[in-house]
Amino acid sequence: MKNFITEKERQTEVIEEVDVLVVGGGPSGIGAAIGAAKTGVSTMIIEALGSFGGMWTNGLIITLAGFNNWLRPYQRCVDGVMGEWLVRAEKMGGAENNRSWVLNSDPEILKFTADQMLLDYNVKCLLHTWAADVMMEGNRIKGVLVENVEGRGIILAKNIIDCTGNGDIMVRSGESWAISSELQPCTLGFVLADVDPKGKFEDETIIPIGPEPGYIEGKTLDDYQSARRDIVIDRKKLRDAFERGEIPKYGGPWFGGVKRRFPWINTTRAYGSGVNIEDLTKAEMSTRKDAFELLKFYKKELEGFENSWIVKTGATLGIRETRQLDGVYRLTGQDLIDSKEFDDSIAVCSWPIDIHPSKGEVGQHSLYIPLPFQIPLRSLLPKKVENLIVAGRCISADRKAMAATRVGATCGAIGHAAGVAAAITSKSRLNPREIDSKLVQKELLKQNAIITRPE
Ligand SMILES: Cc1cc2nc3c(=O)[nH]c(=O)nc-3n(C[C@H](O)[C@H](O)[C@H](O)COP(=O)(O)OP(=O)(O)OC[C@H]3O[C@@H](n4cnc5c(N)ncnc54)[C@H](O)[C@@H]3O)c2cc1C
Repeated sequence: MKNFITEKERQTEVIEEVDVLVVGGGPSGIGAAIGAAKTGVSTMIIEALGSFGGMWTNGLIITLAGFNNWLRPYQRCVDGVMGEWLVRAEKMGGAENNRSWVLNSDPEILKFTADQMLLDYNVKCLLHTWAADVMMEGNRIKGVLVENVEGRGIILAKNIIDCTGNGDIMVRSGESWAISSELQPCTLGFVLADVDPKGKFEDETIIPIGPEPGYIEGKTLDDYQSARRDIVIDRKKLRDAFERGEIPKYGGPWFGGVKRRFPWINTTRAYGSGVNIEDLTKAEMSTRKDAFELLKFYKKELEGFENSWIVKTGATLGIRETRQLDGVYRLTGQDLIDSKEFDDSIAVCSWPIDIHPSKGEVGQHSLYIPLPFQIPLRSLLPKKVENLIVAGRCISADRKAMAATRVGATCGAIGHAAGVAAAITSKSRLNPREIDSKLVQKELLKQNAIITRPE
């Protein structure tokens, strides 16, 4: 039985009052904050960790996904705020900007360019600030209660955008949400130093499939599984070692990174829920242990890895799937497969239905690649709370749809739309469900976003 105590009533300082408050500074938060600021309203972003970028930086997810189509012919599917971030990083040598299905990047340059963009667009920023709760007034969120090194405070806002990945604000405000009984595994990313890759580093990876949608599997999957084609792994050796119990469970492995001798690896696996604190703690610890176990094997068995060492693990575990909003419209896997068109489309997703297996299996998994598909504004809108928009990983989508929309550039494009919608709402007396989606679309196009499938 759980035990409870009642806290004392307290006076809480109002630390800021803005039109739009964005909670969470990952790709969706960056898109939302800059989208709102560019639409001409006062905007603040708060982030729990010490730098912006979310999974792309602190989660050490180095292969930026969602910008480009998988199927031939090549098409760019995400631009706008995300496109500007990419170009800024590219100019500093911190990101590829080519035809590949994923773009290798440098998380430190992404952090730095995110800071600069937020400052350039006059977004008020608070780092090291955790959104702990909300204060409700009927069905409206009056303000977000935050905790940081100065203690507790409240930020008042006309509209709030939940970009926490886990939907913390939607939960605290009593909005309706869902979580699958089966969740994709968590992964701690890590970067190795002093690897001597044998292949050609400059290869651009364009997957040789399309224009029809379909599965990627078999040899194509083997050949194109990794964004670093210069690193050649003996997959049989890995699988045999796993079956002999010599190495821990692993996915992929998928390699990335812009520096030849410093590859990033996405491979460790932990099962459990990213919104259960015991699971989360265990997963952080077990994946770190697994990274060192895998390193031992790579050093001994893989050509070019003999002198390698772990230079960095993610500042936080990578969480693929937790809570989803149960919103005005629930995007489904079938919508993707049917290329369903929406009058209120606000972003285009080109990532496959990419469900990492929950238990047992190691190595790769096959993926279904749809045509680039539309995401409706209604899948960001809660049914009940009046001044909340949910963006990024936790939008209203079923398991299959979220397995595609969850990647960073797509989350950023969704965030961009949420920012524009929240800004337009803040200038009116309406709530986000009542505004004309055509106004949001018009502003998004003005801000160079892509909202319909490229021809
Ligand atoms: C292992 C793994 C591999 C992946 N591979 C790829 C890939 O190759 N390419 C790709 O593009 N995507 C990949 N993804 C998916 C992608 O990185 C994320 O789904 C995406 O970053 C989600 O964006 P987001 O902004 O919604 O959330 P996040 O990136 O999770 O950002 C949420 C932010 O909110 C902050 N936050 C959370 N709660 C609070 C709170 N209460 N108060 C204040 N701040 C809070 C967090 O610190 C974080 O910075 C991968 C994900 C994982 C886990």
